[in-house]
Amino acid sequence: MSNIIAIVGRPNVGKSTLFNRLTESRQAIVDDFSGVTRDRHYGAGEWTDKQFTVIDTGGYVANSEDVFEAAIREQVMIAIEEASVLLFLVDVTTGITDLDDEIAKILRRSKKPVFTVANKVDNNALLNETSIFYSFGLGEIYPISSMTGSGTGDLLDAVITHF
Ligand code: GDP
Ligand code: MG
Repeated sequence: MSNIIAIVGRPNVGKSTLFNRLTESRQAIVDDFSGVTRDRHYGAGEWTDKQFTVIDTGGYVANSEDVFEAAIREQVMIAIEEASVLLFLVDVTTGITDLDDEIAKILRRSKKPVFTVANKVDNNALLNETSIFYSFGLGEIYPISSMTGSGTGDLLDAVITHF
């Protein structure tokens, strides 16, 4: 398989919502509670003349904080192996958390292309808040709203240059 986009990020940043939007399907489970998406979900998507597979890396079920973080790290490692492009999804309404920093550290060591995607940018006022994510040192920030779909076209334009 080629042209694989993996969405990575801590719980509740909107991975499954973005997955649904990119695949125009309802294959991922979206919920307000952390850890609801139990498995990795694969869906098909296309943009202009390019077809691709999207992976929603959910799967965090753990009974302690340490196990939980380890599970997230493992999902990110698998995604780095499996994907041709990684979308590092963060949430503009919460800013940067310790888990975001942990994931960023792993992604900085990856040889695969990483797009830092600021989700929940539902309005222009929130656009100003996205510049904090440059501190990850992972390059350009792509502001999107998975809920409205705004920004996802520009993101896909950039992503498919790798396909
Ligand atoms: P996941 O845990 O990363 O898969 O996150 P989900 O896709 O389950 O979303 C977590 C919560 O964030 C849900 O309540 C979503 O409706 C909400 N959400 C996702 N994308 C957006 C967005 O673009 N804007 C806003 N305001 N909420 C969003
Ligand atoms: Mg999910």
